Amino acid sequence: MTATAPSGETLWSRCGGCAALLYRKRLRRNLDVCPECGLHTRLAAPERVSQLVDPGSFRPLLDRAVEVDPIGFVDALPYLHRLAAARADTGLPEAVLCGTAAIGGSRCALAVMDFRFLGGSLGCAVGELITCAAEQALEAGVPLVLVTASGGARMQEGALSLMQMATVSQAMAGLREAGLLTVSVLTDPTYGGVAASFATSADLVLAESGARMGFAGPRVIRQVTGRHLPEGFQTAEFLLRHGQVDMVVPRHALRARLAALLAATGRRAPKRLGVTAPPPEATRPVHPSRASDRDAWETVRLARHPGRPTTLDYLETTFDGFTELHGDRLGGDCPAVVGGLARLDGRHLMVIGHQKGHTTAELAARNFGMATPAGHRKALRLMRLAARLGLPVVTLVDTPGADPGIEAEEHGQAAAIAENILTLSVLPTPVVTVVTGEGGSGGALALAVADRVLMLQHAVYSVISPEGCAAILWPGRTAAPQAARALRLTAPDLCRLGVVDEVVPEPDGSAADDPEATARAVRRALLANLLPLLEVPAVTLVQRRRRRFRRFGAARAGARAEAR
Ligand SMILES: [Zn+2]
Repeated sequence: MTATAPSGETLWSRCGGCAALLYRKRLRRNLDVCPECGLHTRLAAPERVSQLVDPGSFRPLLDRAVEVDPIGFVDALPYLHRLAAARADTGLPEAVLCGTAAIGGSRCALAVMDFRFLGGSLGCAVGELITCAAEQALEAGVPLVLVTASGGARMQEGALSLMQMATVSQAMAGLREAGLLTVSVLTDPTYGGVAASFATSADLVLAESGARMGFAGPRVIRQVTGRHLPEGFQTAEFLLRHGQVDMVVPRHALRARLAALLAATGRRAPKRLGVTAPPPEATRPVHPSRASDRDAWETVRLARHPGRPTTLDYLETTFDGFTELHGDRLGGDCPAVVGGLARLDGRHLMVIGHQKGHTTAELAARNFGMATPAGHRKALRLMRLAARLGLPVVTLVDTPGADPGIEAEEHGQAAAIAENILTLSVLPTPVVTVVTGEGGSGGALALAVADRVLMLQHAVYSVISPEGCAAILWPGRTAAPQAARALRLTAPDLCRLGVVDEVVPEPDGSAADDPEATARAVRRALLANLLPLLEVPAVTLVQRRRRRFRRFGAARAGARAEAR
């Protein structure tokens, strides 16, 4: 039973989730999210646009209908009849509404799909419109925001609809090359050719609460495999868990979230002229007087203390405005590595670090800060994204080592670490690393090939744990303290060896005794080391970084002698 207003719009509608009878105006005021059960109902493209953009800022791209029937397709009805009916029903010329707009004051190009129009299918006209939106973004030097809702390619246009995946992807690649941000917002449902192209190739992928996304739909998968699908299959939360999306955002928070992301990353990096005075060569070791040579084994114990600030603690204190980005886009979201956009003294940057925890439960949930291949690949994705957008990278290292499990080996742990090291060595943006706790082996180096490597006073950085070294080279595990001394793993030792550029002093006792003071010290050290790097042209940065690590190839006899 529905009551109808004189305008023809129904006054009441029944929620598809909880079956509650809802007053239409109340539902609309709640952004078409059921106030009873939270179901996010599907939005028409014009409604979506008005929810997302600054009032009055939307300028549509094209309003002429594009006539397309490239293969003269006829099923029960000729395709052109279906198109005409879709146009009459939706008031839109096609299944996507494109234009330019401002979101939170940041200009962007926008493409919003409408599922009501032939299932949001990707036909030639849709591909053309989205491509035009991307070209407009490129021309104006602004980000592109895509809101997807689609069953996939438009079969009535045959293989030409398939080609749209390539056409739009090419336009996305153009934005990538130009260092312009692309963001997609997955809404329910996003499947097939749209899922397998621009919906997931964007720099940032947000899923609206309740969205489902996949290549094949659940019905097809059930038919083909004959298997029962797991609870929550292909839902936003499933996608987050499996590393496919950066975040899940409820509708009422979407506009603010987009505004923040565009503000953080939307502006093109200013051209660096490289005419300012070069900073001191990134190889000069600094020996603060407070970095006294404490016993190495005692330092190991301080470095592992559960009270030491973690990466998330630093993100709260040293940095501002952290927006966490999730997932490697390949199947995993490793909890031992966290990363995302943040500000340091008003400057936007990418922060990536190992995450441990203060309690046994937290440590277990974070795999004790031991990254899986998915963790390394998430870090890699964020480093590359930062470089494209001209954002500097800060990494915080605190890991006993990379995850040594069976699954990690099956998923290519060695290659994942190798790729990070290689990518960091040529990353065309400033990189500063702080070893905040344990710098364990290759797992640490996977985040630590940097222009400047800083180390907290009581942190350690080593090729192997003292226990591991003792087990191999000494008769028993009790020799760990001896091994710790022999490994030269303290900050002052590593400074003398040139592995570390600067020791960041800790408060009396250690970082665990005064996390706030530690956060301030890290902030000071980061600013002092990062700011001069921002003036250096990317080419010079990479050359210097390569020189920095190249010289470790030659035996540093002098430094070794000095360290003894
Ligand atoms: Zn409901």
